[in-house]
Amino acid sequence: MKSVCVYCGSSDGAKPLYREAAKAFGRALVAANLSLVYGGGKVGLMGVIADEVMAAGGRAIGVIPELLVNKEVGHDGLSELHVVPNMHHRKKMMADLSDAFVAMPGGAGTLEELFEVFTWAQLGYHQKAVAVLNIDGFYDPLISMLEHTVQEGFMRQAYFDILQVDSDPAALIGRLQRYQPPLQDKWADRRERV
Ligand code: AMP
Repeated sequence: MKSVCVYCGSSDGAKPLYREAAKAFGRALVAANLSLVYGGGKVGLMGVIADEVMAAGGRAIGVIPELLVNKEVGHDGLSELHVVPNMHHRKKMMADLSDAFVAMPGGAGTLEELFEVFTWAQLGYHQKAVAVLNIDGFYDPLISMLEHTVQEGFMRQAYFDILQVDSDPAALIGRLQRYQPPLQDKWADRRERV
């Protein structure tokens, strides 16, 4: 594993601990010799983690759509900043450049990005780890919703288990490194039945 895609809020969050945890995760990536791939902005937790990675001597690669270069303030101090035509290009490039995906706390944009790579893992489009850094229990309500989804028969336990969860940056990186994808994609047993 060489690089980790980190999805994170374009806001700082309500408590200082979110910024502190983003910094700790940035340092943990550098300590593990992993490059950061992220949305390329200077705002919110995006900017915090990128600044920390660069300050710690690591490598940060940003991917930002033209439309957002001004709004999310394209970061001018990165190892690489790719300005791409639109959001679809951004997500594809971020995914192609990364060996694993982690969502830190964020809003609708972060959740959308997380769910895209989570569902693509279920469908077998990729075999990379998908995780949340569960800072101060931020993702507990989402995990409860997903458990409910399994209990109610809309998701298999095996696919729920794809999602790696940890509150500790170094422990989360360990989970990414040990991750084994499910043996079958979501439709495999249905194919076998026909
Ligand atoms: P947010 O979590 O809403 O603060 O957004 C975090 C990041 O997700 C920002 O860089 C947004 O540009 C990005 N984002 C917002 N909407 C989408 C979307 N539909 N698809 C992918 N990324 C998005």
